[in-house]
Amino acid sequence: MAEIERHSFDVLVVGAGGAGLRAAIAAHDAGAKVGIVCKSLLGKAHTVMAEGGIAAAMANVWKEDNWQVHFRDTMRGGKMLNHWRMAQLHAQEAPDRVRELEEWGALFDRTPDGLISQRDFGGHRYARLAHVGDRTGLELIRTLQQRAVALGIEVFMECTVTKLVKTSPSSTEKRVSAESEGRIAGAFGYWRESGRFIAFEAPSVVLATGGIGKSYKVTSNSWEYTGDGHALALEAGASLVNMEFVQFHPTGMVWPPSVKGILVTESVRGDGGVLRNSEGRRFMFDYIPEFFKAETADSEEEADRWYEDKTNNRRPPELLPRDEVARAINAEVKAGRGSPHGGVFLDIAARRTPEYIRRRLPSMYHQFKELADVDITAEPMEVGPTCHYVMGGVAVDPDTGESVVPGLYAAGEVAGGMHGANRLGGNSLSDLLVFGRRTGLNAAYAAGRRREERASITDEEIRAASEHALAPFGIEGGENPYTVQHDLQEVMHNLVGIIRTADEMERALTDLASLRERITRLSVEGHRQYNPGWHLALDLHNMLRVSECIARAALERTESRGGHTRDDFPATDDTWGTLNLHCRLDGETVGVTREPLPQMPDDLRELFN
Ligand code: FAD
Repeated sequence: MAEIERHSFDVLVVGAGGAGLRAAIAAHDAGAKVGIVCKSLLGKAHTVMAEGGIAAAMANVWKEDNWQVHFRDTMRGGKMLNHWRMAQLHAQEAPDRVRELEEWGALFDRTPDGLISQRDFGGHRYARLAHVGDRTGLELIRTLQQRAVALGIEVFMECTVTKLVKTSPSSTEKRVSAESEGRIAGAFGYWRESGRFIAFEAPSVVLATGGIGKSYKVTSNSWEYTGDGHALALEAGASLVNMEFVQFHPTGMVWPPSVKGILVTESVRGDGGVLRNSEGRRFMFDYIPEFFKAETADSEEEADRWYEDKTNNRRPPELLPRDEVARAINAEVKAGRGSPHGGVFLDIAARRTPEYIRRRLPSMYHQFKELADVDITAEPMEVGPTCHYVMGGVAVDPDTGESVVPGLYAAGEVAGGMHGANRLGGNSLSDLLVFGRRTGLNAAYAAGRRREERASITDEEIRAASEHALAPFGIEGGENPYTVQHDLQEVMHNLVGIIRTADEMERALTDLASLRERITRLSVEGHRQYNPGWHLALDLHNMLRVSECIARAALERTESRGGHTRDDFPATDDTWGTLNLHCRLDGETVGVTREPLPQMPDDLRELFN
């Protein structure tokens, strides 16, 4: 077999979004030799698309805000299924992570007193999102990327990891102790441009690969979100938690068809936008759940007053958590009260001046002007739900980010537990910073402890991984990857979408089984140099694994909660409120088990009384 390119690191970070970059910086600062691999260009990760802001209880706008209130909002938003320890660490450490970003050069919008400005978002009791107009992700990435490059961290961009390698006596060249067996030894991948293979040896691997949105037809996610990290972890023996919870953001563009799904940031509602149906009714007042009644305005007058006087009025129902708003829009459209292109109307022009809108929401202004020929300073937008975020991910230790596979870590959207059944807006960027740092540090400490005892990746393992990757070139006249992707997206959109039933999910599982059979016959034309059809053929394997986890877990959870709504079980069930579902791979099949939630200590529990 031809020699392939090999590299050796203490910590290999897969993914260069906010989580990956923050992990890499932390690992480097802890003395590790760090490498970052990312399948797109550096700086182009999904994080760059984040608009609204970073949630952190800095108390710059509201003195009353503190980590306990942020913790409580996060748990309530997640319908109490979040891992309490992750939610606690996140709320406690987010303000320091934002300040640190500023020290590293990020330029945030300011309050009149010169502090970092914070804006309102759904589910957050106080204005809490540190932001840079509606381009916060860009500033976050720019800052972290500059720092990582300045520190000299090696980056392999446009390079895709397709397999994680573990240690075993038969598959390692050096002898490893029994204790080291089954640990992570590194990763295998290919350069997207040349198609050549590459191997990374590392005793600690951090997955920071983001989400799974490309399994759905309508999504705010970019081409990169094919669930690679989720599938790699599953295949390495880790478990995925909360996979039934997929967030459909209530406001994506619905028109024209070519841009369907592109995000309309929640900041539009935070800054004064209201939702109306085709009859002009501000329908969100009809959908306030009991759980949030005490803190939500019950009349248009009170909701309107809130924008000027937040102390003496309750929040408008447009700022309920995303799952509530997405379901309400879905119901309005289904009842025949939708907009001409199958959404509802979102109007900020009636409340704010054109100057205010262009200053606070510059990207939204340009997005609608250029893509839909709509001037949002003068007319309403048409919006509808779009698949946006996966709450489910690799089950990790909350303090260290390590999975059950020794040496395998996960941070950011690919990790599970932090957001429970539903993520609050702004809580992802803070999650990336808090857990990116923690995970990077712990991955570096663990690698340091293993310096004397490194496993390497054998030729045999490389041969097996290469053969698997090249299989689609060996089949003539087989399945077209684009057709299979289209069919997969239809299945997930139609049968495992916002509203689910047992019957539909059983059909979905049958269809997914047939798609799994079809991907064994994928064929691609041409050669290995920049071949998008081949890249998709490899991604499809991951998209299917993740889709199966979502469908199986969603079928198992016979209640409605957060980002999982069952038409056949519409109520929230207290028994399910004590259980998480974990997906594991058993041969080629995904198995689902019920596991009790970790016990929250009494002092935190008291915050909910
Ligand atoms: P990403 O930033 O997506 O990075 C993933 C990285 O992994 C990329 O570098 C990718 O190339 C790499 N990768 C993936 N697979 C492989 C592989 N097999 N091999 C090598 N590399 C791989 N959240 C907020 O908190 N506030 C907001 O205002 C906000 N706005 C948003 C707006 C939009 C339009 C969208 C889509 C999301 C928004 N979110 C927001 C959510 C948030 O942006 C994401 O959850 C977050 O950025 C994910 O970061 P990450 O580091 O986990 O992953």
